Amino acid sequence: MSHPDVSGRVVFLSGASRGLGAGMARRFKEHGLRLVLCSRSAPAVGEGADVIARRLDVRDEQAMDELIGEAEGRFGAIDLWVNNAGVLDPIAPVRDLSLDEFREHVDVNLAGVFLGSQCYVRHLRRQQHEGVLINISSGAAWKPYSGWGAYCASKAAVERLTQVIAQEEESIGLRAHSVAPGVIDTDMQALIRATSADRFPDVSRFVDLKRRNDFNSPRFVADALLDLAFDPSQRTSEVALRLPDESS
Ligand code: NAP
Repeated sequence: MSHPDVSGRVVFLSGASRGLGAGMARRFKEHGLRLVLCSRSAPAVGEGADVIARRLDVRDEQAMDELIGEAEGRFGAIDLWVNNAGVLDPIAPVRDLSLDEFREHVDVNLAGVFLGSQCYVRHLRRQQHEGVLINISSGAAWKPYSGWGAYCASKAAVERLTQVIAQEEESIGLRAHSVAPGVIDTDMQALIRATSADRFPDVSRFVDLKRRNDFNSPRFVADALLDLAFDPSQRTSEVALRLPDESS
């Protein structure tokens, strides 16, 4: 195990039921971290002595407050907070997207990250503790993809929001980063590959990645986040980061 020093640290992770979040939750547990997990369906790592696992929507302010209250009572201060929950569905050109569909992306991908980040900042101030906030972004924050208008816009906004928080909370010892995790083979990728080229012109690139099995693993991403948070030699003053492909 390459992170012996992280055992016993406390990490919050949203979107822990499937995909990247489920894989990261399992990896964090292997490292001996104490976990505070949430998603609308049951998190992939179940409740236990060192695990709080709750079903909740990241947009539910009251449920988030209750979860943090419980985490403070059981584990004390949270060392690392990862806002990972996100949506990409539906994939469609802006001309075909309804206002409600657009709002759903902004609500989960941006307002959910806003709420989680705010909860964490308030928690650190209450606990008088230094911490690390990581908001999971995407290459779509920087590169426009036809068909991903709502997703690209919400991820770009997450990056700027994270920069503002990093600036506002530097004095209390918070480090805030947005991290684009590379391509991971999850339900979100299955959705991308199942989309027709008229809705998503870049689809063949993602089908090709699957054919070559050219993905970052959740385990690789989890270890990179732990390095960023806890390994002083991996620390950077950059706020927006893009993980290299595992294969490169
Ligand atoms: P996924 O397989 O679709 O999983 C999404 C996770 O988010 C699930 O655990 C889901 O759980 C949770 N979630 C969605 N809406 C939620 C809500 N309102 N409240 C609480 N939890 C919610 O997606 P993924 O590929 O693992 O993506 C994880 C993150 O990485 C996302 O932010 C995504 O944008 C980012 N990302 C992924 C890739 C990739 O290649 N996969 C690339 C770049 C960035 P429930 O449905 O149970 O709530």
